[in-house]
Amino acid sequence: MKHNTTQQTIDCDFDPAAITLEQAQQVILQTTQTVAETEIVPIRQALGRVLRRDAISLVDNPPNDNSAMDGFGVRVADCNAATPTLKVIGQSFAGAPFNGEVGPGEAVRIMTGAKIPAGVDAVVMQEQTDFDAAAELVTLNVGVKSGQNIRLQGEDITTGQAVIKAGTRLTPACIGVLATMGVTEVEVSRQINVAVLSTGDELQSVGTALKDGNIYDSNRYSLHALLNDSRFNMIEKGVLNDEQAVIEQAFLDTANYADVVITTGGVSVGEADWIKDCVSKTGELIFWKAAIKPGRPITFGKVGNALFFGLPGNPVSVMICFEKFAYLALQQLSGQRIEKPLRLSAKLTSSLRKRPGRVEFQRGVMSYDADGQLCVRGTGDQGSGILSSMARANCLIVLGAEETTKSPGDSVTVEPFAHTLSSD
Ligand code: AMP
Ligand code: MG
Repeated sequence: MKHNTTQQTIDCDFDPAAITLEQAQQVILQTTQTVAETEIVPIRQALGRVLRRDAISLVDNPPNDNSAMDGFGVRVADCNAATPTLKVIGQSFAGAPFNGEVGPGEAVRIMTGAKIPAGVDAVVMQEQTDFDAAAELVTLNVGVKSGQNIRLQGEDITTGQAVIKAGTRLTPACIGVLATMGVTEVEVSRQINVAVLSTGDELQSVGTALKDGNIYDSNRYSLHALLNDSRFNMIEKGVLNDEQAVIEQAFLDTANYADVVITTGGVSVGEADWIKDCVSKTGELIFWKAAIKPGRPITFGKVGNALFFGLPGNPVSVMICFEKFAYLALQQLSGQRIEKPLRLSAKLTSSLRKRPGRVEFQRGVMSYDADGQLCVRGTGDQGSGILSSMARANCLIVLGAEETTKSPGDSVTVEPFAHTLSSD
């Protein structure tokens, strides 16, 4: 069947009621365009942002040959005797180089990071020498090889090298590398504006006493935490009642300024589940069901220029559908290179119930057993309302669509919590 979007027509050879995880992700990526707008930020403010232009080094690193050890800079040609003794003619410190040339029979005292003086082609570590400071003589107690303990100019980075490529999300190490390169500011994507709306007549904000039949709105808070990220600007729109007109108006309003609108709740087929119809009326519905658990009812579409994700109401489904669907679009909007999640094999130490038909993401706790083998156990009840299972877990156990119940000792695939789900 075909789904029409404003940008393209996507040929989908599937029943929308049974769209697979991979198909859904592909449709999302095909529909999502990286934002054109970028901004220049100082490197201290660039952590976690997505680089949009290759960062080019202004210098070599190291900027010159320098010593990897505290010791003595020598000439290998002088070191043929069993224990050569050399005249120490000066010293080279980090930031205070020795500017003369070291001639035959001579050496310099040299410190870690200090520039290698002309004539020196090896450094002998201090512990392998006897130094007579009064006589200014050093005796070497070991053989010497050319180039030993010398860090070469440019061995890490060369001038003009594109060390960090566009599409990289900047880590703490990247920020350090940018400083090494002499770069003071970088071009990154502008923040992605994400509007978040909870739907449900039963929802109350924390800080108020619960009325009969109500629950606290946890989704708005878990999404707030998931979006607490320098790439994103979350716009919290509170709780909407389950009224079609209210929901439609809210979609149209938020789509004016948001790149992405995320709702929770109202996507199943209950009496008060309006989301799918509201998207169809105000924009376009691209798919509304994926064969994953938790989270079968997941609505994806567009309202105006904004991408729309109608996540389920159940709190576990919200977190997993955010990670598997909305986060993909957010990465692509911000121009980030998208990597497949890291997956490992682990030995199951509990039983897991599973029916065939849908890919399942069960919550797990990974650890090592006494033999150092990676093991995982389920967190117990996997109901999609049991949000405490997410808080106890440190990974998702991925069970393919056709897999069934698992027993202790079976090997299973796990995805360690990363990026969004982890507090690391
Ligand atoms: P719905 O998709 O609206 O039928 O909601 C499915 C389940 O999730 C119901 O039990 C809702 O009460 C619950 N739920 C919906 N929204 C939230 C929310 N924001 N926080 C916590 N639970 C919610
Ligand atoms: Mg509801």
